[in-house]
Amino acid sequence: MSTGLKRCMYCEDSEGTDIEHFWPKSTYPLMAFDWLNYLLACTRCNSNYKRARFPLDGQGMPLPIDPTTDDPADHLQLTPTTGIYVELDVKGENTIDICGLNRDVCVAGRTNAWTAIEVLIPAYGPELL
Ligand SMILES: [Zn+2]
Repeated sequence: MSTGLKRCMYCEDSEGTDIEHFWPKSTYPLMAFDWLNYLLACTRCNSNYKRARFPLDGQGMPLPIDPTTDDPADHLQLTPTTGIYVELDVKGENTIDICGLNRDVCVAGRTNAWTAIEVLIPAYGPELL
């Protein structure tokens, strides 16, 4: 639903401007300089929502979706007409909450993208419908 250029790896709505530590450096200092722990995120997701929130499951695995290893579609379902993500499991539920994926600006961006797609597809390729 986003342009895919320099977008935040969590919300895809904003420009990725921050280097986010998936495993929070305040809680996991040994991960602070691990290259694979760095994600491109927007300031809103990194500094206002996720921060050091990082719940683990009973096996010690992260409950937020790791966009570098997890397929978000396994954990989240988007309803394009409303722009709202619905959780498919506990990982999806945690990610929606921790990253604020259903905040107003993200929901509005997704519904706007859906409206544009509904207009553009018939104009460019009615055979696609
Ligand atoms: Zn974001």
